[in-house]
Amino acid sequence: MSSMIELINELWFLKRDIVSDDFDRALYRLAEEVPMTIHEYPTGEPCWTWRVPEKWSCSEAYLETLDGRRLLDYRKHPLHAVSYSLPFEGVVSRDELLRHLHIHPRLPQAIPFVFKYYERDWGLCASQELRDSLVEPAYRAVIRTRFEPGTLKVGEVVIPGRSQDCFVLAAHLCHPAMVNDDLTGVVVGLEVARLLLAGPRREYTYRLLILPETIGSVAYLSHNEALIPSMHGGLFLEMLGNDAPHALQGSFQPDCQVDRCFTASFKSLDPLGYRGAYRTIIDNDERQFNAPGVRVPMLSLSRVEAPKSSGKPPYPEYHSSLDTPAIVSAERLEASSRVVLSLLDAWERNQYAVNHFKGEVFCSGYGIWIDYRLNPEGHRRLFDIMERCDGERTIADIAVELDVSFQSVWDVVSLLEAKGLAWFSREPHSTDPHR
Ligand SMILES: [Zn+2]
Repeated sequence: MSSMIELINELWFLKRDIVSDDFDRALYRLAEEVPMTIHEYPTGEPCWTWRVPEKWSCSEAYLETLDGRRLLDYRKHPLHAVSYSLPFEGVVSRDELLRHLHIHPRLPQAIPFVFKYYERDWGLCASQELRDSLVEPAYRAVIRTRFEPGTLKVGEVVIPGRSQDCFVLAAHLCHPAMVNDDLTGVVVGLEVARLLLAGPRREYTYRLLILPETIGSVAYLSHNEALIPSMHGGLFLEMLGNDAPHALQGSFQPDCQVDRCFTASFKSLDPLGYRGAYRTIIDNDERQFNAPGVRVPMLSLSRVEAPKSSGKPPYPEYHSSLDTPAIVSAERLEASSRVVLSLLDAWERNQYAVNHFKGEVFCSGYGIWIDYRLNPEGHRRLFDIMERCDGERTIADIAVELDVSFQSVWDVVSLLEAKGLAWFSREPHSTDPHR
């Protein structure tokens, strides 16, 4: 079994374009680590309003001076060709070339990641330093690419639970020769899946999906519509290796149980972490799950340094050739997988707290009295929580209502349970005689 970092080192430089041989190579390699089903959707296959694109491959791409001096070469770095670039071969004027030669908006030394999956054109990518050095009137550009029928692939790891009700973890694998976005989410998801498979059976069934961004989610969801009603929540994973605290982005349904549960647990899992509403931190596959007709509340976990709303990049090396193994660490990947597991742990424990008692509990009689003179906050919290154990509120509901951690509510309700004063229910169980 390979560690997360070993997998990154092995797979990061593959040309993992959305439908490509290297995407398949990476996915089949990951399938050696855990039992994985690989779903295939052929080119042209309708997926709701989308269609699966062709398989794309690039055998050669370079830029030369007219006297044959090579300025950039796809063989040295796969980001030199625009992903899904049309083929091209010819002598072009400098002006014409500059219209097709992309640079990174912020990093003068980096090659940018540019993709044109659907609005196609030919294009090369270079550092700004290289582009600035182009002073001759004409150059020769060569891009040998092929579009052919293939199959888009989605890897699915199922961890069966006692119930068919499921929780979805998702990560995309389609960013060629980059690491933090997106391999880190994939390996953290895989590590979590390995640990779930090795641990005791859970209540929920978990599904880890490894896919090409957007089209992979649409392909999977449109071909598994019958499963959608059983999906009660989800978490999208990416950008988990850079040196920054965690960022938790809510789903489209901020009042749903998974949002409440993760919100109430997250604070204590990464004290420096921050939260943001749906589509304010980073956009990814969670959009397909949250969308109309699907409405699976899917949050996302990342280490985005500056949320989308700030107008800054999620991290400095984003979508560039500087997104290499050098910017991620094994410790951070391990810390992120612990955060994911703890969130899922809370999710498993998030049940309705049902009172066996009526009226206020005779605390001293049950040995759970907290002296308000010695511990006024603890005293208050005990009563605040007990007051809300009514079979209508989950642990997460109570935590959000009181703005306290999931764990602190869990501790109190577990204590009540141990004293025979309360019980946990997966379904609401109101004890209000008026209902
Ligand atoms: Zn990306």
